[in-house]
Amino acid sequence: MSDVPAVPEVVGLVDAVTRAFADDGPLARALPQFEPRDGQRRMAVAVARAIDEGGVLMAEAGTGTGKTMAYLVPAVLSGRRVLVSTGTKNLQEQIFEKDVPALRGALGLPFTATCMKGRANYLCLHRFEEYRSRQGVRGRHLNSDDAVFLPVIEHWAPKTDTGDRAELAELPEDLALWHEVSATADTCLGSECPRHSECFVTRMRQRAAESDVVIVNHHLLCADAAVRESAYGEVIPSCPQLVVDEAHQLEDVATQYFGRGVSNLRIDDLGRDAEAALRAAVVAPGATAKHDASRGVMRVVDHARAFFSGLALARMSRGDERLRVAREWFADHLQTGLDLAGALDGLQATCALTAAGRDREAPADDAAVSDDLTAVARRAGDMAADLRFLLACADPAYVYFLEVKGRAVQLRAAPIDVSRIVRDLVTGQRRATIITSATLTVEGRFDYIKERLGLEDADVLSVPSEFDYTRQTLLYLPRRMPLPREERYTEAVAWEAGQLLRCSRGRAFVLFTSYASMRAVVQRLEPELEYPVLVQGTAPRSTLLAEFRRTPNAVLFATSSFWQGVDVQGDQLSAVIIDKLPFASPGDPIVAARIDALAAQGASAFEAYQVPLAILALQQGLGRLIRHRNDRGVLAVLDPRIRSMGYGRRFLASLPPAPVTYDMEQVRRFFGEPSE
Ligand code: SF4
Repeated sequence: MSDVPAVPEVVGLVDAVTRAFADDGPLARALPQFEPRDGQRRMAVAVARAIDEGGVLMAEAGTGTGKTMAYLVPAVLSGRRVLVSTGTKNLQEQIFEKDVPALRGALGLPFTATCMKGRANYLCLHRFEEYRSRQGVRGRHLNSDDAVFLPVIEHWAPKTDTGDRAELAELPEDLALWHEVSATADTCLGSECPRHSECFVTRMRQRAAESDVVIVNHHLLCADAAVRESAYGEVIPSCPQLVVDEAHQLEDVATQYFGRGVSNLRIDDLGRDAEAALRAAVVAPGATAKHDASRGVMRVVDHARAFFSGLALARMSRGDERLRVAREWFADHLQTGLDLAGALDGLQATCALTAAGRDREAPADDAAVSDDLTAVARRAGDMAADLRFLLACADPAYVYFLEVKGRAVQLRAAPIDVSRIVRDLVTGQRRATIITSATLTVEGRFDYIKERLGLEDADVLSVPSEFDYTRQTLLYLPRRMPLPREERYTEAVAWEAGQLLRCSRGRAFVLFTSYASMRAVVQRLEPELEYPVLVQGTAPRSTLLAEFRRTPNAVLFATSSFWQGVDVQGDQLSAVIIDKLPFASPGDPIVAARIDALAAQGASAFEAYQVPLAILALQQGLGRLIRHRNDRGVLAVLDPRIRSMGYGRRFLASLPPAPVTYDMEQVRRFFGEPSE
């Protein structure tokens, strides 16, 4: 860690932070965009106190507060290393590339920072070398993607300092070639790797170990917690202070992370890597076991095909994918699953034997081949153990289910309640933890998020948005709408959205809770709209957003992934239209298991879980609209239940204080359009 001069004891952190944010303080002098904001100061002082005294602070900071500076300044001034975890890579990059350099200049402190992402973001030098030599052996018959992007990566690899694929903006998100050459944990040889000392992941970790500010995302935070729990070491260096930004996403990420899963695609990968390792082994002594191992790969591939295609077919015809509920049909596939686990055991044993044979017979400088075989053997063994755990469906703390997405068929188990995991593993290890987001409260209270994250004793602070919603926004709730379950609902949504889009002259997000509703409304509206239409799914998310920003009067139709983490400032986004209250689908196995668990405790799952979860999602969706003091716009919630049902009041009480109208005429006036 670098030598940051800590705040002298006599001054105290709270005083130092207060001075930093003063009207004539260093931030005001150095940052051209700086404006004194009461909410930002209150949050910064509360963070300073939490760092001084230890414990957990939950701070909800409404949009425009400047919360990043409100936690970074006290963290840096404390002189202790801080770990910042974000929900998205975008925010990670923004903190690292913009906020940290600005703060370094403003405070005049030479603190250091490192941005750490998940391993799959980095190039694996060893796999890349292997891939190229395989292509060389095969005479370079490349598919069209590889023919374009392999030279791009070849040109970049020797020059990059970080090995982070974010430097190659032109690389498609789902490029199969990247999957083959990235530094995934499954395929890493660790300290046995011949390229270990130059490895981008190794170097990133070394830099992080010497940094004052380490910026990660929630996936990596959870990966680190899991590794520490299993006593395998650490992914992130120890940091006594943790800031969890975009904390409303932590429960979902922890649920994903602390689950277990086996998929057909992961087994395909294993088969490919096993074959490559064996091909390398055949040209050298010790290849006697190669034939067996090769047969082992075939057995795994054949059993996996039978097992996963059987499950996918059963899923189509039998409905519920929760395995405990679906015991009857799942039982038909148990034996095939156990056969696959047996085949994985077999592959593990033969790869390990082949590696051991080579270790005895092959020259020492050829150790990488054995290491590859050993890594494949380890993966096969881990997969067999995971598969047996999944087939048993025995741990009541997990929900077991089948997930079919495109070509991927995955058997998964997810923890039903992550509160203990978050409390013990993520925040429990720290001296001070700050949990922050623009949306943490429901009806002004922190109870829901405290319970979900197991942080009932946290101190809380809620700082309202800096924006004047009474002046900048109008909340439109249509007077007459059918209920969402009625057939004519889609028609009514299309009509209302069409009217609103004419008032706002496009410049809008229309957000849906499902692809099906989105497609149905787009189909009806697109032919009659005079504005450029962008639809989620027709291009990558980042391309659609860039297109939206630069296309005058564009309208973007999208679903859940655009409800949060999207920032469009200015007139370009002047309306956010929401088709339905975003209740999580009770058909989702994790949601269903959580509802059942709460019902078993005698609680009303609807009141205690489904409504608060939907309120936070709605707040996020509507939060896309006003990103700056000068932004103006209309929020429209077309679902009539927000007015007609008792729980609707809870939604309205949690929304920003915008004036409400039921009248399209007022919307027209808001946009300065002539009346019809
Ligand atoms: S240490 Fe692991 S990630 Fe790094 S180059 Fe070697 S195999 Fe790849």
